[in-house]
Amino acid sequence: MIPQLARLLAPAAPPVRIGIVGCGISGAAAAIAIARRMSGPTELVIADASGHFGPGFAHGPAAGRGELLNVRARDLSMVPDAPGDFTNWLAGQAAGRDDAAPESFQPRATFGRYAGERLREALSGSRNVATTLLTDEAVAAEPAGDRLRVRFRHHGCQEFDALFVATGYGTREPSLRRLGQDPYRPLDAEMAKAARNALFVGGGLTMVDSLVNLRRAGFAGAATVVSRHGLLPRPHTPRHADVKMVDLRELKSLSAILRHVRRTEREIATAGGDWQGVANAVRCQVQDVWTSFTLADRQRFLDHLAPYWENIRHRLPPELHAELDALPPEVLEGRVLEVRRRGTCQEAIVEDVRGRLAARRFDLVFDCTGYRPAVDTPFVQSLVAQGLVMPDPLRMGLAVARSGRVRSAGGRSGPPVFALGPLGRGSLYEITAVPQIVAQAAAAAEALSRLSARGRARHAASAAPWGLRSFA
Ligand SMILES: Cc1cc2nc3c(=O)[nH]c(=O)nc-3n(C[C@H](O)[C@H](O)[C@H](O)COP(=O)(O)OP(=O)(O)OC[C@H]3O[C@@H](n4cnc5c(N)ncnc54)[C@H](O)[C@@H]3O)c2cc1C
Repeated sequence: MIPQLARLLAPAAPPVRIGIVGCGISGAAAAIAIARRMSGPTELVIADASGHFGPGFAHGPAAGRGELLNVRARDLSMVPDAPGDFTNWLAGQAAGRDDAAPESFQPRATFGRYAGERLREALSGSRNVATTLLTDEAVAAEPAGDRLRVRFRHHGCQEFDALFVATGYGTREPSLRRLGQDPYRPLDAEMAKAARNALFVGGGLTMVDSLVNLRRAGFAGAATVVSRHGLLPRPHTPRHADVKMVDLRELKSLSAILRHVRRTEREIATAGGDWQGVANAVRCQVQDVWTSFTLADRQRFLDHLAPYWENIRHRLPPELHAELDALPPEVLEGRVLEVRRRGTCQEAIVEDVRGRLAARRFDLVFDCTGYRPAVDTPFVQSLVAQGLVMPDPLRMGLAVARSGRVRSAGGRSGPPVFALGPLGRGSLYEITAVPQIVAQAAAAAEALSRLSARGRARHAASAAPWGLRSFA
């Protein structure tokens, strides 16, 4: 048969099947980008164990009491190539109210609602992508011929040509926090009012959420914070501040970068500017710098600089900072080794910076030590065991490229797998906040769309069976 005739008679390429496991901000951003990018027929299955599609942990369960975003409305958008989309959405919701201003810090729950709405719109408006939403937990994955097979706890198995792992902080089990109660668990108002004192383990933004919520629930006792470096969060400027910064990669070493940033900060301060502008400018370059670092430099940064960087990078909305500043907690520099129940209160064993131990009793203890990507779940562990993904060398998450495409033990011979958001923390460092996640999801969808177009072209040219290895 002549080749042209063979091609005409060949069955059309079946749709590409894409799975997204986890649908917080990372999974939702990926789905929105896929719905907009894929140019050929695509079946998309989005699974989330919680049954909520869009908000994820930070903008869902951790946002139930009006907790504020630490990013300005103007810098947030779930839609690639549409900066300012969140502000536009807010303006539509608030019908001209002042609190929709681009410079404002909105409640995280509001952002969660916006993310869910943009997700639904993108999926229902897509010409090429047919979507199934699945409320279930993925528990395992394995190669299946040219595809990947994902096993779900309740709904059996599904096979995919490409997989997005967007499981972030995992399926939430608050009771697992080691050093006190979960800061985002609903508060018992009577207990809050009756408590004489409270301990907050960790001194970052979660501590502020927790302390402010406790006080708003009626707590009037003494608040103590134990933090490794004795630092409390600092404020954002009332309006966005920025400065020009050289390409930090050109400075070649961590010490040279540090010297340059400090000098710039001094110059800005002398000129009457805000140090926050320097932090904002550095933040834009963190992925570039981190990926250019040697492993030794990354480790050195984590050992010596990370807490100071985190302190200037994660800042409070000015109004929240003013609330904290009006009644600051006692701050102890050190760490909490253990918390144990003693009658009606709890005893914390605190080690100070000189290594001295002290036992102190509190009515309430909150574990505000932060959230790490959940890589010890059955699903992620199964991906690791099958060689489909691998941990990054620092074991902070999974080894990924900037698009989130995983580096696997078997190289790139299998179907494409992307691990998005906080899961790439060790590889990219600055990848946990919404703007970076949305940019990464767009890059992933773009890469996938190119691979899929190439696969379709090959199928048309050869009439070869369509399969996932056409992606490789
Ligand atoms: C308390 C807190 C406050 C933050 N505040 C801000 C902020 O103000 N501004 C900002 O830019 N960033 C903020 N961040 C960071 C950022 O928003 C998060 O990193 C981001 O939302 C992570 O989203 P995610 O989808 O990757 O993970 P998650 O939000 O953890 O979502 C993962 C989803 O996957 C599901 N899931 C997990 N495992 C499975 C499985 N095996 N099968 C099926 N489903 C599964 C879960 O149910 C969940 O819905 C904050 C983070 C935290 C923790």
